[in-house]
Amino acid sequence: MKKALFNRSLITYVTGSLLITVIIGLVLSQFIENNWILLAMLLLQYIFFLLMLLYIFNKYIKPIDEAIHSVNQLLKGNYRSRVHISSPGQIGELGQQINALARSLSELSIQEQMHSEQLSTVIENIDSGLVLVDDKGYIHLVNRKFLSIFGKQTKDYVGYIYYEVLRQKEIQETVQDTFLYEKSMKHSLIKENDTDQRHLEIVGAPIFNERHLLKGAVIMFYDVTEFKKLELMRKDFVANVSHELKTPITAIKGFAETLLDRGHEADTSEYFLNIIYDESVRIQALVEDLLMLSTLEHETFQLQLATFHLKDAIDDILPSIKDHAAKNKVSLHADIPHNLLITADQEKIKQVIINLLTNAINYTPIDGEVNLTVEDKREQVVIYIQDTGIGISSEHLPRIFERFYRVDKARSRHTGGTGLGLAIVKHIVETHKGTIDVDSKENEGTTFSIYLSKHSQ
Ligand code: ADP
Repeated sequence: MKKALFNRSLITYVTGSLLITVIIGLVLSQFIENNWILLAMLLLQYIFFLLMLLYIFNKYIKPIDEAIHSVNQLLKGNYRSRVHISSPGQIGELGQQINALARSLSELSIQEQMHSEQLSTVIENIDSGLVLVDDKGYIHLVNRKFLSIFGKQTKDYVGYIYYEVLRQKEIQETVQDTFLYEKSMKHSLIKENDTDQRHLEIVGAPIFNERHLLKGAVIMFYDVTEFKKLELMRKDFVANVSHELKTPITAIKGFAETLLDRGHEADTSEYFLNIIYDESVRIQALVEDLLMLSTLEHETFQLQLATFHLKDAIDDILPSIKDHAAKNKVSLHADIPHNLLITADQEKIKQVIINLLTNAINYTPIDGEVNLTVEDKREQVVIYIQDTGIGISSEHLPRIFERFYRVDKARSRHTGGTGLGLAIVKHIVETHKGTIDVDSKENEGTTFSIYLSKHSQ
């Protein structure tokens, strides 16, 4: 009833009052003769009606209209809408309550927006590809990393059934198995691009609702290419080490067996023993180099930094290297400035110079020359090791710092090389934040240049 009374516009009530006034006028005209008095009474009564109407309209109808409008706005999601009711009493309280409701709704919506923004930032920025599939197999979401692996745009995936747009058998199997077994499933995939090949691990995880019914699946794509590369390097390394060890061990075993057979001349026995000795020296050198590499690569490895005179350090090692040069009939010259102080790991720097000078002597024919020059350049020290040896052709040059890489296997073996010397050198120089360059011409010679900061840290 109340609703029927007040839900019309103000003009209806004004017209209604006028009609009632006219009817009252007609009734009263039977009793009141003086038209002026009648008119004045009717006018007063009409004005009274209008004032009543205005009062009711302003006090009740207008604020309720405003409240309804505001609630409608809230329902539509406009949480900024507020009611401006100044009336006291229950209507005023209703307005205040609606405003309080609007405020908490607005707070909730801000929080929800923040959560959803945080979630989408995480999804977009994780370093793995992600696809969300619903229980009917439709794709709902793909992230940036997924697009960077598989190409195309979000619109080419979202809204499609997974097998229409994800053609790879391994991906389809992951989704199917996840739905079938309702638990996490894993598959591998090799993705060939124009330029490279990526190894991906695909993991499907089911999503359940609160009643434990399957609602869909999240499919993650992990790029394990670097890991695979490392694994391959490790396998290659183990194969190389085994191969390097096999040759001397076979020789030692063979010659030891021959010796055990007895029945040979004393000088043949000595010859065999010498070979056994040489081969064990080779194994020892290999093991030492391997230990050095593993020490350098260990996470806890730290340079033992100290400030020392470079000339003194080099002078410590020169005598034994000069011996080696003399045996190979190669002349060795060293030119190192006095009073050149550097902060570095002295033992490791000595190791670098020993390795490079030994190589220079080993790969330089009789009557050749090896020069060690050190230049003091303000904040830097440059060490040059130059020889007039066999040189390295440009096709081999980029690979000589790799482990076990040798230009001429037989020659390296003959000189007792392990194939690890330059790998160790590079590692030490880089741990000092220095750089190493090589410049070489076949049959003319090679120069290694090491650039070190005087204050490595
Ligand atoms: P190796 O123990 O065989 O000497 P390195 O790692 O020290 O192993 O060197 C790798 C390869 O680089 C050598 O086998 C050799 O072919 C080449 N090499 C290194 N230094 C020189 C040099 N001064 N002159 C010519 N070739 C060199």
